[in-house]
Amino acid sequence: MPWLHVSSDSDFSLQNLPFGIFHTGDHRPRAGMAIGSHIIDLEAAAETGLFGKRRFFKKIFAQATLNDFIALGKPVTNRIRRKVREWLELPATPENALHILVDRESATMLMPIRVPNYTDFYSSIEHATNVGKMFRPDNPLLPNWRWMPIGYHGRASSIVVSGTPIRRPSGQILVAGGEPDTPIYAPSRQLDFELEMAFVIGKESTLGEPITVENAEEHIFGLVLFNDWSARDIQRWEYVPLGPFLGKNFGSSISPWIVPLEALKPYRVKGPKQTPAPLEYLKTKGLKNLDIELAVTLTSPGNNAATLLSQSNTKYLYWNMAQQLAHHTVNGCNVQVGDLMASGTISGPTPNSYGSMLELSWGGRNPITLNDGTTRTFLQDGDVLTMRAWAGEEGARVGFWGG
Ligand code: MN
Repeated sequence: MPWLHVSSDSDFSLQNLPFGIFHTGDHRPRAGMAIGSHIIDLEAAAETGLFGKRRFFKKIFAQATLNDFIALGKPVTNRIRRKVREWLELPATPENALHILVDRESATMLMPIRVPNYTDFYSSIEHATNVGKMFRPDNPLLPNWRWMPIGYHGRASSIVVSGTPIRRPSGQILVAGGEPDTPIYAPSRQLDFELEMAFVIGKESTLGEPITVENAEEHIFGLVLFNDWSARDIQRWEYVPLGPFLGKNFGSSISPWIVPLEALKPYRVKGPKQTPAPLEYLKTKGLKNLDIELAVTLTSPGNNAATLLSQSNTKYLYWNMAQQLAHHTVNGCNVQVGDLMASGTISGPTPNSYGSMLELSWGGRNPITLNDGTTRTFLQDGDVLTMRAWAGEEGARVGFWGG
């Protein structure tokens, strides 16, 4: 029996050990690792000598972001995970436990990384086809889609940690019955979420030098859940000819714990068959997708019962992370530690697996009924949206949230 009890339904099993930044009311941000209902205070652990090089690691972990720690590279970050795991597997409660463990309930989670750059892909064929059908009925999937992971450069400054309120954006929108091609300025009436996963770059690359599909995963530190909030009415009017702008850049939310790629290794699966076969620089072999369950719930104001809106899985993604990163850098574009690369909305093949309100309500035509009897086509003020993601069985679950 391990000395620390971890509930079997916890997202934060010994297999997971995700990294985050927290404070405990003292507003002193520091690095931590989640285990069950606890946080391992990494600064305090470094102070007790758990990792060696006491002063060096104390300084690394007493920071407001994980960037410097992540930049040390996988040999170091994986060694820290190993050390913590060995510590948690000691036969009896170690003397320094009281000093190192923090109750998760007493902690506030902060933005775990400084994000230099953010890219959003469009890698779900189901999502791209659904949106295409609504925005371009005669030509849903453009001819380039099956040849490359389509993406756009998003806005890094407005990425916030989950729990931060998102203000409904105002902008130019076209309204039904209005003058043709004449917008009004008003609050968005079609505020939406996008269910996505994002990976965090852990190793920079050099300008002018592509990252190959074979080397791509060396550059990926870990994953977070990602909500790419979207204002569909603003987006629809502005996105041609250059793509998303104010319809997207008012906010994106990430889950506070970064799950290391290594923790997800047991959940690797094959991706969908790619036809036509990708060009040589995008060819991957083996298990390059991840089997991570996803769920989205909505809680309306004044109602405690959440409604399940969608259940999806990252395994549906057509383009995998190695292909996304290889394509992103094939022209020589460099990446930096902390860069976020989001998957794009992860929709599955069935209507209950769609990853946005746009698809769930089919462009606002089919209202969704919530547990409290009210209906939604898009989000209303005060709605609370919750995304969850987890892999693995009870007792060994690798999840992104809490549980
Ligand atoms: Mn998106």
